[in-house]
Parts: sequence; C-alpha cells; structure tokens
Amino acid sequence: MDFEQIKQTEQSFLMPTYARFNVAVSHGKGAVLTDVHGKTYIDFGSGIGVNSLGYGDPDWVAAVQQQAGRLSHISNLYYNEVQVMLAKRLCEGAGMSRAFLCNSGAEANECAIKLARKASFDKYGQNRSTIICLYNSFHGRTLTTLSATGQQSFHQFFFPFTEGFKFANPNDIEDLKQKLDENVCAVMLECVQGEGGVVPLDAEYLQAVRNICDENNLALIVDEVQTGAGRTGDFLAFMHAGIKPDVVTMAKGLGGGLPIGACLCAEKLAPVMSAGTHGSTFGGNPVACAGANVVLERLLSPGFLNSVTQKGDYITQRISSMPDVKQVRGRGMMLGIELKKTDARKVAEQCLENGLLVLTAKTLLRLLPPLTITYDEIDKGLSILNTVLKGVANV
Ligand SMILES: *Cc1c(COP(=O)(O)O)cnc(C)c1O
Repeated sequence: MDFEQIKQTEQSFLMPTYARFNVAVSHGKGAVLTDVHGKTYIDFGSGIGVNSLGYGDPDWVAAVQQQAGRLSHISNLYYNEVQVMLAKRLCEGAGMSRAFLCNSGAEANECAIKLARKASFDKYGQNRSTIICLYNSFHGRTLTTLSATGQQSFHQFFFPFTEGFKFANPNDIEDLKQKLDENVCAVMLECVQGEGGVVPLDAEYLQAVRNICDENNLALIVDEVQTGAGRTGDFLAFMHAGIKPDVVTMAKGLGGGLPIGACLCAEKLAPVMSAGTHGSTFGGNPVACAGANVVLERLLSPGFLNSVTQKGDYITQRISSMPDVKQVRGRGMMLGIELKKTDARKVAEQCLENGLLVLTAKTLLRLLPPLTITYDEIDKGLSILNTVLKGVANV
C-alpha cells in the first residue's frame, strides 16, 4: 500500500481516536525511521518514549526472536524463568520488594491504586480510600486512571467516573496539606509531569511529600510510566530527589518496543495483593519480558545512565540558543521546549516534512529520543529543528 491507501484504510476501519501526523512508517534502525516511500526521519520521539534502545537493537531483537520461538505465551498459572528474572531485576534496580507485571501504563496505575486502597482497607477498614493526585497530571485512559488524571478536559463524556480522587497543585506543599483528611490513603504523582507539558517537581517538594506520607501513613505512589527506565538519566526519576516511594509504576520505555507495564512495591506492602485479588492474562508475557530484560541489562550497565544525562544536557544547550525558543525544561532525555510565539504542532509538522519526528505536550514541543541515539543522529536532528525554527521565526 502507498501512503494514501494506508490513510484511507485507517479512516475506514479504525476509530478516529488519534490526530495522526501525515506519515506511514515502514521500518527503523537506530534512531532513524523510514516511511513507506523510502524517506528517512531522525526520531526524537521513540514512539512516545517507548523504543528506549532505538529500532532494531541487535541484542533486543535476538532475545525477542529467541523467546518468540521458544515460548511466546504461558498462563500465569505456571512459573516461567524470563518473568521471574525480570521481576528480580526490576525490584533490585528500583530498590523495591515485589512486582506485578501487566501490559501498559494505565494497567500499572490501576494496580497501584488497588494496592494502595487494599493496604489501607486491611489496616483501617472501609472509607479510607481517597487518593490525592496533582493537577496537570496524566495517569492513563481507563476510567479509573482518567479519574486520577488532574486535568478537567479528561473528565468528560464517560460518566460516571471512579470516585475517591482529590487534586492538589504541583510543587505546592501547603495545598497538599490542606487537601489531607482522615479519608486519604495515598498520594500519587509523576516526578516530571509528561503529558502536562514536561513540568518537573522540585526535589524539596518530593521530599516534603514523602514526609507527609510517613507522618500520616499514606502510600506514596510514583507514576514512572514516562519518566522511568532511564528516561531522565536516573533508572527512576524519584532517585534524583533521594526519596523512596511505596509504590512505583513503569511502562513505556520498559519493554523497548513491546507492551509491558510493572507495578512495584516496597516490603511493607508485599503481602497486600494476595492470590485472587489481581491478575492479567497477558501480564508478564515471556516475549515482552525477554525484551524488557535486555532493556534493563543495558540501562544498568556501567556508564549508560550517565550518557543519557550527557546527551540530554547537550541537546538542551544546543536548543536553548535556537530561534523562537523561550525555555527548555525537563531532565535527561525527557525535554520540553517552550516556544515564544510559534504553534508547537505546526513546528512538529514542519519538522516531519524536513525529516525529523518530534512530539508535543500541551503547547510545548516534547523530545523523548531513543536513549541509545548517537551524537551524529542528534546533530542531524538538531540541524533540522534549527532550520525549521529559523523559518517560522522569520515569518
Ligand atoms: C503514557 C502514560 C500513562 C499511560 O500509559 P499507557 O501505556 O498508555 O496506558 C500513564 N502515566 C503516565 C505518566 C504516562 O506518561
């Protein structure tokens, strides 16, 4: 099929839930994608932070191919080695005690919410079930994770939503204190609000939230679906603030391109989700786990995370001096570019025409390049971005 045929078929047979860019991607290698007509693009988006090792990483491909040939699926009624090895790596890397494996970020957050509520139920009984989330957050597309999302635009159409969520302003510890009452069981946040426009939370704020959770026996849930798996230059973004959450969720970059999510918890919550309280047919799928094992091995190899920080600093520095750029914010290779006057979507479309894929978040350009991107690929992408910004700044 050529591009027009693909687009027509999409319009005929898929629900129109996505505002797609005008490109049909065929294949990729490293941080370079090729469309169905053979045109190439530097990819500064890696899906949405999913292809953490880029496209066609030889170790990742070999592990996934081998696992697909050996055993592609086995029910969670049985044990399997790749799954337990992944859980071990995740817990050791995160400093957590137990993992639940699922298939997406929203599912990981569903697990975290159930876990926090059951932990509270087991100890305090019913009604202590409210979770304080932050305004401008994003936690997923299921009804409950939409309810946890602190943006009014997500609380439409699908009534009734799940009860038991309250919201506080990010980076405002007094507001959080005011929202506390005897019904609260947990606080849930992203260390850098991704979909909200790449808004980092201050380390002091995160430390103060940790203290409030300790004082009031609340579970601190950190949603690392976007920030996790090395994206910010730490294995998990909370590590930067020197805090330890009670529950951590991961997904996007974890599988290196396969659908997988994880909900991790600290030792004191380890027995909460007992047999029969939660589950997933596909969760912890051996092929997805084989991919994730390669991702974790790479992320936790010496020097890797440091290279993410260095590349992020390099990109930030270069973009800061480009035309129409007001501010570059974020951490590691999770970056938001605030523009002075140009519409971010328009810039993203022009970048695409010129051979560069970038994302947007709210009114910002957003970059989530493959963590393995080379400096040569970075320079090529930055050069295209500079040309586009120069053009739009002059009109
Ligand atoms: C993308 C995202 C989710 C949802 O993940 P899905 O895999 O799309 O369900 C949840 N939380 C955050 C912070 C995200 O960025």
